[in-house]
Amino acid sequence: MGHEDCIFCKIINGELPSAKVYEDEHVYAFLDLSQVTKGHTLVIPKTHTKNIFETSPEVAKELFARIPKIANAINTVYQPLGMNLLNNNEAAAEQSVFHLHIHIIPRYGDGDGYTPNWTVHQDDYSSEDLQNMAKEIQDTIES
Ligand code: AMP
Repeated sequence: MGHEDCIFCKIINGELPSAKVYEDEHVYAFLDLSQVTKGHTLVIPKTHTKNIFETSPEVAKELFARIPKIANAINTVYQPLGMNLLNNNEAAAEQSVFHLHIHIIPRYGDGDGYTPNWTVHQDDYSSEDLQNMAKEIQDTIES
């Protein structure tokens, strides 16, 4: 059973059309309607989960386990120079469809359409800052 009003659940159950590239009991993969680069594919779990924050280890495991196989098929067909995996969580991070998805984006060189625009802040954090930050996160993972 899909989540009402979730377009990706509707794609999984066939209520909405898609260009399917892979399907099994846990996962569905299809071409993104807005191809950032040729072969741009979305891989989604069949279990509805809003984003990474709500995803169980089991769903995450099954989802990611399929990605190498799908990525290698895209690699064989289009022979890109490289490939980015991208996952957006919450609107502030550009999530627009609230059913977890991994973007597979083949890369064909400069000007291929994908422009990750990172500004690095390496000088803003001392190694002590990094150790303190890592400890905060580590303690929270362990608790
Ligand atoms: P995000 O911004 O990470 O939430 O990505 C959502 C992606 O879903 C966008 O790249 C859209 O182009 C894509 N998308 C939305 N609706 C459809 C659809 N019906 N079929 C295929 N891709 C879709």
